[in-house]
Amino acid sequence: MVETPDLGQIAKQARERIEILKLFGWGVPLSRSALSSRSLPPIASGAAASPRRTSEGSPAAEPSLTGLPERLGREALLSPIREAVAACDQCVLCRSRTQAVFGVGDPTTRLMLVGEAPGSEEDRQGEPFVGAAGQLLNDIIRAMGLQRPEVYIANVIKCRPPMNRAPEPGEIASCRVYLERQIEIVRPEVILALGAVSARALLGTEESIGRLRTRFHEYKGIPVMPTYHPAYLLRNPGEKRKVWQDVQLVMARLGLKRPAESPPP
Ligand code: SF4
Repeated sequence: MVETPDLGQIAKQARERIEILKLFGWGVPLSRSALSSRSLPPIASGAAASPRRTSEGSPAAEPSLTGLPERLGREALLSPIREAVAACDQCVLCRSRTQAVFGVGDPTTRLMLVGEAPGSEEDRQGEPFVGAAGQLLNDIIRAMGLQRPEVYIANVIKCRPPMNRAPEPGEIASCRVYLERQIEIVRPEVILALGAVSARALLGTEESIGRLRTRFHEYKGIPVMPTYHPAYLLRNPGEKRKVWQDVQLVMARLGLKRPAESPPP
């Protein structure tokens, strides 16, 4: 068995990587207060053209919390956790996975989407939310006026449960440390919890999505909006309207406007 990930060791590795980035002249936010700043500018469509990707207007002497250096800093912090997940054998799911599925997207985003566990296509490709449910999630993201690379997407469970069965409580307990660290580093302003496993893991409740949705809950001070999982919507397309209601509440919280040409998913 591989040892439980040593967070002190992970932090040490992250600091070493940040020192390497600094050697290349990249300023990186080093303090927890910097990473937990709530003053990030709004998400804008088109990552490359987004004002938050540039240091324009920032005083040169101040460490910038916007743009590439910040993103590299957070990716450096995520990297050793990704490596720990890839080697993890803390639960039986390690035996049946093709590969662990860590997470994808912009670690400086204001919006994080948390799903349940990888399915067969995710297990094959190593990326969360690919396949049919992923396509529907992409539609939802686009309807918000965003592109997939602008948000951060992760699952509660990093390895595919056999036959796509629901993850068991012990597996969730073993795996949650990784999601906790991802959230701690990304520090999103809002989390969209996709499906009951995600909402229950984040909120520590047994309530159904039907009872949890339409209002914000909290995970360590971060607003969480629970809604239905895209895979559930594929089986129950009549429920899309409810997800769109929840998504609009998230958009209002983030000050996002739906693009005129974008139909609801
Ligand atoms: S599901 Fe999580 S705890 Fe289990 S082996 Fe995969 S990474 Fe480790």
